[in-house]
Amino acid sequence: MVARTDKVTDPGIAADLLLARRGSAYFSRKLNELHDDEYDGPSLLPGWSRRHVIAHVGYNARALTRLTEWAATGVETPMYASPAQRNEEIEFGATLNVLALRNLSDHAIVHLNVEWRDLPAEAWSNQVRTAQGRVVPVSETAWMRAREVWLHAVDLDNGGRFEHFPPEFVDRLLADITGNWSRRQSAEGVPSLRLQPSDRDAALTVGDQDADPVSLTGTAAQLARWASGRGTTGVVTVGGGPTPAAPRWL
Ligand code: ZN
Repeated sequence: MVARTDKVTDPGIAADLLLARRGSAYFSRKLNELHDDEYDGPSLLPGWSRRHVIAHVGYNARALTRLTEWAATGVETPMYASPAQRNEEIEFGATLNVLALRNLSDHAIVHLNVEWRDLPAEAWSNQVRTAQGRVVPVSETAWMRAREVWLHAVDLDNGGRFEHFPPEFVDRLLADITGNWSRRQSAEGVPSLRLQPSDRDAALTVGDQDADPVSLTGTAAQLARWASGRGTTGVVTVGGGPTPAAPRWL
């Protein structure tokens, strides 16, 4: 008997799963709004057509499905055999016809969802390894997938906007990115920063706040767009002066 509902009991993981599923629905909606002759057009990602984005998001779901199966069975199944295999897969996927790309996207979403749904509550803390080599509980796949589908829906460049994102996703994304910068600050020379969303009470900070951090403001959605490397629209420095490019994130 196959379960019809999630077995996960942790409310934080359940919230991430909801963000991932809402994001998948948003990505699918933007994908379905593309006419066949628009697939060849450029995405917002340098060097990638929309086809590359669609193929990548589909294969990402399959890769996260492999991690979920790893957690369920204990049999190691990595996301990708190698970085080269990942890139070759995307290049191949980008050559698929429109119907095949849509099927890839739809089927990969359904399959990942089934694996998540059927993963026993006690298995969500089982450890797996990401493509970057990080060892994480498999519950991380929910947030990893949420990031992919929401951000790449915008990258399709047919009307997806950070302003459409749920506020809780925007806040979590800002915390994720600034936390990443904080961890890499001393090793990689990330500048000290203060991000003050105009529509939130709390600021996000990176590094020493007494040492004249770069102080930026904009709406939370605009700051999240900037922080994820997708342009400076709406983001201004508090002291005047040009808005710097965001530090590398992923
Ligand atoms: Zn991606």
